[in-house]
Amino acid sequence: MENKMGYNASFAEEVFRNVDSGDEIKMCMNCGVCAASCPLREHMDYPPRQIFSLIRAGKREEVLGSQSIMLCTSCYTCVVKCPRSIPVMDVMHGLAHYALKKGYTPRIEAARFGKEFWNQVYRRGRVDERDLAQRAYFAGGFWEGVKKILEFADVGIKLVLHRRMKLIPEKKIKGISTLRKMLDKAEMLDKGRSVQ
Ligand code: SF4
Ligand code: SF4
Repeated sequence: MENKMGYNASFAEEVFRNVDSGDEIKMCMNCGVCAASCPLREHMDYPPRQIFSLIRAGKREEVLGSQSIMLCTSCYTCVVKCPRSIPVMDVMHGLAHYALKKGYTPRIEAARFGKEFWNQVYRRGRVDERDLAQRAYFAGGFWEGVKKILEFADVGIKLVLHRRMKLIPEKKIKGISTLRKMLDKAEMLDKGRSVQ
């Protein structure tokens, strides 16, 4: 629970316990190398170093509602450069995953895309790019979907012409039921961990 100053005393502990690689933050010495080397720093409301400081400062809303945690592209630069070998990228993804689980959607489009990506893997065991894009675009309503289709029509045509996107639907992989059992199990373990 936050006090009037927006400080949540247990937030750091919550991150250490529930976020993938979250306890690695304890090793951070706030040098700022990760932030300086991140190619997306100018687009982030808080670069990684600042996110870690905010966690320690108990700023739950700022961290889980931050766009930065949804922007990480897994380029790995920060991981290579961190003098404390902190898996910054894993922590950023862990925070994004945790924020979505807690109902935060700082970048609604990225969240929709991620959800649909997961659904596709669960349904077929592989991703059908055409179907994925279509479902993600229309998740925000019919007119939003039409607008997006028109906006990205030229990209879609190029992908089809270069055989990077198929027009016929992808089939399920063999052994889809085994894959689903594994995904169900992983989800169950994840849920069990988050209520600990
Ligand atoms: S580079 Fe490593 S030690 Fe330095 S601020 Fe970033 S995470 Fe912390
Ligand atoms: S892995 Fe993510 S946080 Fe790290 S430098 Fe790349 S984009 Fe930035």
